[in-house]
Amino acid sequence: MKFGAEILKQADVLGNFSEDAPRVTRTYLSKEHRLAGDYILSLMRDAGMTANYDAMGNVVGRYEAGVPFAPIVMTGSHQDTVRNAGKYDGLFGILSPIACVKALHAQGKRLPYTLEIVAFGDEEGVRFGVTLIGSKAMAGNFDPAWLEKRDANGVSMRQAITDFGGDPDAWRDLDRRGEQHGEVVAFVESHIEQGPTLLDEGLAVGVVTAIAGATRMNVKVTGLAGHAGTVPMTMRQDALAAASEMVLAVERYCCENAGLVGTVGKMSVLPGAVNVIPQDVDFTVDVRSENDALRTQAISAIRAEFTSIAARRNVKVDANPFFELKAAPCDESLQQQFATAIKAQGIEPRYLPSGAGHDAMEFPSVCPIAMLFVRCGNGGISHHPSETMTAEDAEIATATLLHFFEQYQPPVFVPDKAQRVDRS
Ligand SMILES: [Zn+2]
Repeated sequence: MKFGAEILKQADVLGNFSEDAPRVTRTYLSKEHRLAGDYILSLMRDAGMTANYDAMGNVVGRYEAGVPFAPIVMTGSHQDTVRNAGKYDGLFGILSPIACVKALHAQGKRLPYTLEIVAFGDEEGVRFGVTLIGSKAMAGNFDPAWLEKRDANGVSMRQAITDFGGDPDAWRDLDRRGEQHGEVVAFVESHIEQGPTLLDEGLAVGVVTAIAGATRMNVKVTGLAGHAGTVPMTMRQDALAAASEMVLAVERYCCENAGLVGTVGKMSVLPGAVNVIPQDVDFTVDVRSENDALRTQAISAIRAEFTSIAARRNVKVDANPFFELKAAPCDESLQQQFATAIKAQGIEPRYLPSGAGHDAMEFPSVCPIAMLFVRCGNGGISHHPSETMTAEDAEIATATLLHFFEQYQPPVFVPDKAQRVDRS
């Protein structure tokens, strides 16, 4: 085994850089982020790359192209974790390309593009309540107002970046949309699936078709409280009974229409007493799809159904979308190239959408994107200490990624443009 066992060992080392060991928790700009970053830097340098922190605490490694005026392919994932996380979410997308570069470097082989591996400082958003900070900054989607966001201890992001040794006002310099860093022609990310599809089908890897878009709503149902013993069943305005029907309506719609997932993950009931008819119920709805039109239709249909349930049950309902994210489709040609790389491992390519968000979803503003998924063991559980990946799967996924890197041909540039973008 060339890659798998070593990658799993490296993931074990990184798992020890935790704010609440033996659990795994590592947030943006923490002491543990520094320890993990330093370890990743050392792995990158040992693999033959130049590597450093950027102004916002992302670790950026470069494996220079073998030809002049070459464009850049970016890859990578996040170093941070949720609280009480697994060991492979994010980290695999950093460790697997480093293993690829190490193998290339050992053979003295260079690529027709510069390969940049990024260990993004933040994707999960645990510390400051903003997700994908690293990739947003690099993709030109960063809002400087976020620098004033504070963590639970009142420390601002601005202060934390400064304390980490970075420069909060240099966020603009990270933007890869222009050519000041060189032309970025693709962003590819390898990541544990965080779901059961590949496991269920007995496949080690799969090609991601798109990262799902999402709509989230706050729903308020208002009925009328009353004595649980005295108000006849036919005269009630029970907000919880109505809300329960609405929850099932979300589930039914998303079951009956392929390509959607819908979840009610949070609910509160007032007054919340055993002997009082519920008057006020608040709940959330999260609907996702790789198809934006399907998702928009679903939200209208679900809201219409809520209105009819409320009318029938003589309660009021107010459903307010508060978050919307468009789907990020993966590039067709890059998907095909990943499929070819998977076939080369003797595996039939399986195409699947990503229901979870990933760093890659920020990069369509820069370049075409693609993702490789790796099987998640233990029923597909993730964001949980039971998240697992086998050394065999890490091996196959890394071999697939290496095949992709070795076969990928960047678009041809006209020389005068190449002259301008050359930074070597
Ligand atoms: Zn992740």
